[in-house]
Order: sequence, then structure tokens, then C-alpha cells
Amino acid sequence: MSRQLSTSLIHARQAAAPTYEASQPGVFRASTLYFADSAEWRAWKAAPHARPAYGTSGTPTTMALEQRIAGVEGASHAVLCPSGMSAIALVYQVALLPGDELLVPVNVYPSNRQFVLHELMRRGVLVRTYDPTDLATLEFSEHTRLVWAEIPAALTFEMPDLPALCARAHAHGALVALDTTWSAGVACAGFDFDIDFAVQSLSKFAAGTSEVIMGAVATKDAVLDEALRIGRRRHGLNVSPMDAATVIAGLQTLPLRYRTQDASARHLCAFLAGQPEIAQVLHPALESCPGHEYWRRDCRAAAGLLSVVLRPDIHAAWCDRFIDGLQLFRIGFGWGGSTSLVMPYDVDEVARLDDTPGQLLRLAIGLEEVGDLQADLAGAFAAARGA
Ligand SMILES: *Cc1c(COP(=O)(O)O)cnc(C)c1O
Repeated sequence: MSRQLSTSLIHARQAAAPTYEASQPGVFRASTLYFADSAEWRAWKAAPHARPAYGTSGTPTTMALEQRIAGVEGASHAVLCPSGMSAIALVYQVALLPGDELLVPVNVYPSNRQFVLHELMRRGVLVRTYDPTDLATLEFSEHTRLVWAEIPAALTFEMPDLPALCARAHAHGALVALDTTWSAGVACAGFDFDIDFAVQSLSKFAAGTSEVIMGAVATKDAVLDEALRIGRRRHGLNVSPMDAATVIAGLQTLPLRYRTQDASARHLCAFLAGQPEIAQVLHPALESCPGHEYWRRDCRAAAGLLSVVLRPDIHAAWCDRFIDGLQLFRIGFGWGGSTSLVMPYDVDEVARLDDTPGQLLRLAIGLEEVGDLQADLAGAFAAARGA
């Protein structure tokens, strides 16, 4: 039967999957997947997990990334989510029911805190905060279901004693979720610790190019993995295979980028500590940083992130002159890319565990030459002082 062009173009059959290999798995894009015949359709109805039937189950590209993230975290399973925040929300969704209790660090990542305050508490989850540098503040009850943890704290970099935290949580029958965005599997893997969920924003180090928003939850437990997959499908959380391919490419250079940024950040910590306007440099490799001994014990590297606390008499106007005097550091939130970033936080925006007053500046070190970054900082100090 001869067919019209539109029909023959639509029904052109695809060659079988190629057997050659390339450095990238390729991008497989699909919403609908076909069943070859009614026997295959009926077989799928009898065992729906045996094969994907629709794009919401993922595609070969997203599944390839899930496997890699599971490997990065020392887990056996991982599910991708459209952002780090949606990965955090999915863990809460899977782990908590009304009446359950959740323990979160008092200085938890700000957007996580917003989710807990505005989404979980009004749905009947009881939330208690704890000081990650003092595990005696963990208040368990028979209803405690989940302990959230971060290594290290998001803006102030205190390191908790994670093995002790996990032991206590499990002794009370609670699950442990760890935000691994900072460690990214390089400083340590999530499952170096006895946790239940490793939650990572892939928007940061894994993608590494500041052009993708994505997150992942990794587990070692098939039952939790199944619950995450069902929850993800019911919420309709999906990831573009194009973005997944970008992250897969990013992972190939992740350790190199991470270690370069680590070395530059530590070099700049020393420079910044010598500046008179700076009261304190916060970075877990510094002995003065709370939990430094746990960082030394548990981590092989540190992310290229640090904060400085300005002397209390240094005001916002000085800070703005300093920031505007920078040429290489851009003002922005989403660290982990090639470009160095700076972000000021007002005193009352940051939950500080100590009561040192003073504005905080968070620096994310990119991949520029460290000497150029130091010269840029020195130029900004001169500009801020000269006014
Ligand atoms: C960025 C970030 C998140 C949220 O990730 P998104 O991909 O931006 O939604 C969660 N935790 C930490 C520590 C982060 O830095």
C-alpha cells in the first residue's frame, strides 16, 4: 500500500538500538513507549514493574544517571527529581504521616526550613529542632520517625558527629536523611554513614555548569526505593533526559572540579583570615570551625565554599562597596559551577549557633586561577576601604 508522505514519515521504523559505544549514553526522549502487540500489553498489565510503559517511569538516559548517582553515594538505588528541593519534599512525603515527629537542625538549609514550617507543620507533623554540634539536644519520642541531617551546615559549615547521630536515631527507631549536596560523593559518600536516604541537589556540583536544576534521593533499601518511586510517579515528578545527559557529562569531571575548588578555597581562607574587617572565617578544614574533628575523621576533601563573618562595626554599606568592587566573583546563589560567587546575608537571616554578631558573606569558589581570585578580593578590600 502506498502511503502519503505525512504517514510514512510518522511511521518510519527505528533501527534496533546501536551496539557501538560513546563516552555519553545518548539522549533518549519519550513520553509514550509502544507495546509490540497485545500479548506484550497483557504481560505488562500482569507485571507493571517489569518494563517502563510511559515516560513518567524514566527513560534509558535518566536511568543511566540514577545508576551513576547510586554509585556516587555508595547506595544501591537512586531516583531523580526535578530539583534538590523536590527530592527533599519527596523524602518527607515518603517518611512522614500526620502525628509523626521530625527532628531538623536548627540551622537547616533555608528552603528546607521553609518547607518544614509551611508545608509539614500545618499537615500535622510535629517538628523539633536540634543543635547539630550538640547531639544531647536531639529530643526523641516514640513518635520520632525521621531525623534530618546535613554535612556540614549550609551557610556556617559546622560538622555534626554523624555516626553518633545515626546510632541514636536508629536506636529510637527513626530513619535518617542526609543532605549530601556539599559532599557530592567526593568529600564522602552518603552511605559512608549508616543513613537511610542521601538527598543531593545535582544543580550544584554534579551538573557543575550552573545550567541545570535537578535533585536525587539515593537509598540502600529496596522497600524505601519502591516507596520513593511510587511517590515520585503519583506526584508526577519528572526530569528531562536532555538535562540528565548534561549531568552525566558533568559527573565525568566532578572529582577534578571539586578538588580544584577545594584547594583554591583553602588558599583563600588563609588570605581572608588576615584581613582586619573579618572577624571569622567559616570552613570545616579550619580548626576553629565547630566539628572540625569530625570533618577530619569523616571527610577526604571539602567543597569550595566558605563564609566570612564581618566585624560587628562593619556595616552593610561597606559590604556593598566590597561586593561591587569584585570583578570576578558574581553575585548569585547556585554554587558548584565554574564562576566564583559571593552572597551577603544579613545578621538576622542566618541561624547562627554562636551569638557572634556581624554580617556574613558566603563565597563559592569557581574554577578561575586562584591568584586571580585573590587579586580580585584584594582589589575589592581596597575599593571598600578607600571610600
Ligand atoms: C541548593 C541546595 C538544595 C536545593 O537544591 P535545588 O536543586 O536548588 O532545589 C538543598 N540543599 C542544599 C544544601 C543546597 O545547597
